[in-house]
Amino acid sequence: MSGFSRSSAVGLLAAASLLTTAACGSGSAETSTTASGGKPEVVAAFYPLQWLTEQVGGSDASVTGLTAPGVEPHDLELSIQQVTELKKAALTVYIKGIQPAVDDAVDPAKSFDAATAVTTIPAGEHAEEEGEEEHGHEELSYDPHLWLDPSRLATAATELGERLATADPAHAQGYRDRAATTAATLGTLDQELTQGLTTCRSRTLVTAHEAFGYLADRYKLKQVGITLDPETEPSPARLSEVAKLAKAEGVTTIFTEALVSPKVAEVLASQVGAKTAVLDPLESKPSGDYLSAMRDNLKTLQTALGCTA
Ligand SMILES: [Zn+2]
Repeated sequence: MSGFSRSSAVGLLAAASLLTTAACGSGSAETSTTASGGKPEVVAAFYPLQWLTEQVGGSDASVTGLTAPGVEPHDLELSIQQVTELKKAALTVYIKGIQPAVDDAVDPAKSFDAATAVTTIPAGEHAEEEGEEEHGHEELSYDPHLWLDPSRLATAATELGERLATADPAHAQGYRDRAATTAATLGTLDQELTQGLTTCRSRTLVTAHEAFGYLADRYKLKQVGITLDPETEPSPARLSEVAKLAKAEGVTTIFTEALVSPKVAEVLASQVGAKTAVLDPLESKPSGDYLSAMRDNLKTLQTALGCTA
């Protein structure tokens, strides 16, 4: 466990060659609006953005997701066909910093980076220690997991409505109307979370993967992530640091997530005398949808943190 060397040069080289491969396809994208029953084709990079784009696009747009259900979006590699699809799309909706392959392939003139629409928070502070080569977060000054705050996602919905209206002016009103409805729905969810997390015995969130910074920021919780990267094993030093903190703060639950092995969280939980529970970072499609999964997260948090609402 101690032989965790920082082979960052190798990691960067590997990442660079992947990026170069994707960048080679910088061909001309003459057809900005490809007919799909006459509808503009809109590509959404991964689940929460796909959900958002489907809500706002409605029946006026043909929405395709790049990341298949059950796939960790950070690891996505694009097929040649997907790069072509992305180049042809009227609009690509993504968040810079989540998927290096997508960041590299998007055409800035025909893409919407949702992180540009919201106030971002800084990236996790132990990012440097944990070997972040493959996560795509390494060059980022901000945390890209913004969809875990419904109020920020509502802001992104409004801006997405404007971008779709520009890409497809004939249906501008429809996009703007649905963006307003979506923002209102997200506003209701935000209120439920605010109320549900007002009075809690503990406000410390120990998570497997540091994905919940925006949830913590919005609802005044304190996130302690075991790792920033879902793929990286924490160093023994980090693990004992988190264990000490969890004990000091009387943490009763260590949160895991569906796409990450619960092993590390289970080890930590047994050290601290806590149990584990699944909190969904929504990086992949849940069994319901974005709204129902966030409501499930609220229930999980209320139980784990001892909230009375
Ligand atoms: Zn992540």
